[in-house]
Amino acid sequence: GTVIGILGGGQLGRMLAAAASQLGFDVHVFCPEADAPAARVAMKHWQADYTDDAALSGFARACSVVTLEFENIPVSTVEAIAATGTPLHPGAKSLAVSQDRADEKAFLNGIGISTADYRVIAAEADIAPALAALGGKGVLKTRRDGYDGKGQAWLKGEADIAAGWESVGRAPSVLEAAIAFDREISVIVARSSTGETASWAPPRNVHDNGILAQSVVPSGLDRAIEIEARRQAVALVDALGHVGVLALEFFVMADGSLIANEFAPRVHNSGHWTPEACQTGQFEQHIRAIAGWKLGDTHRLFDAEMINLIGEAGHVDPAGLAANETLTLYGKREARAGRKMGHITRRLDPRKD
Ligand code: ATP
Ligand code: MG
Ligand code: MG
Repeated sequence: GTVIGILGGGQLGRMLAAAASQLGFDVHVFCPEADAPAARVAMKHWQADYTDDAALSGFARACSVVTLEFENIPVSTVEAIAATGTPLHPGAKSLAVSQDRADEKAFLNGIGISTADYRVIAAEADIAPALAALGGKGVLKTRRDGYDGKGQAWLKGEADIAAGWESVGRAPSVLEAAIAFDREISVIVARSSTGETASWAPPRNVHDNGILAQSVVPSGLDRAIEIEARRQAVALVDALGHVGVLALEFFVMADGSLIANEFAPRVHNSGHWTPEACQTGQFEQHIRAIAGWKLGDTHRLFDAEMINLIGEAGHVDPAGLAANETLTLYGKREARAGRKMGHITRRLDPRKD
């Protein structure tokens, strides 16, 4: 039978494993943690470090195709898998570009997608001139490894530089112009191994302290803006030769112009409403794409909102759920502050347009 291998043991891997299982595939998960959400639903857990080439090789040889649920895997991991001949989707290009915020912005700009103006920061002395050039305010972000707003510091003036540089761990960074956006949206898009593409209606995303709190469809934006955002996301997956699902986040300005923030070469939290509200959800779509299948239809059948359950909010009383709410819990053992524990999707009106 076909075996899908997933690198990473978190909730995205768990939901990918469930979708793969529904399509009849066996699932192996590779991650170092003993008790990870995805590992506990997999047929086999390869428990080893991402730098353990021998374990990676055994895992990849046992799998028909390997995918991932987080993009920050070391280059050596990608190489160890490539050496076995087992395909890795998404591939090295999608991973390399998305792992580094400076390379990511340069790549986006290179294919005609606008981003916030930015400067590359290698040392503390680079920050003051960059801040001045960007209008005196900006967001300092580590080039690598940031997520959920970690590895970021707002600089509201020169007085914030020293503490900001300290808080990003003095790591190679970018300084981005502060964007006074009207709202945020994301496009979830999939590309198959034959180059077929399909995107979903873009949700409007609301963040709290740098962490996604809520995604809502429809976004409330003009149709032309949504069409343009979806066009840009398709251009991105084509340019990367990406296979699988990818999410491109945007700031939307009051005049309707779009500024890309970042992309994730994988299923995404802002697409968690798609299984309940659309003909095909993002997890199923990703498995279809990496398995070499034709993509499923992405039409939206319902208006919907997705609410993240973060920290103690993960202790949900199932008796309190409304009839139109679907609860997904990730099976995490401890509800730490800022930790994503699950989500609720609220299915609203059937789509009218
Ligand atoms: P994740 O990968 O979990 O989405 P992250 O740590 O990569 O998060 P970003 O997406 O870069 O972080 O930023 C998180 C949020 O912070 C954005 O969605 C936005 O609300 C705000 N933000 C980030 N950069 C800027 C900016 N340049 N101007 C204004 N707001 C910003
Ligand atoms: Mg990010
Ligand atoms: Mg983001």
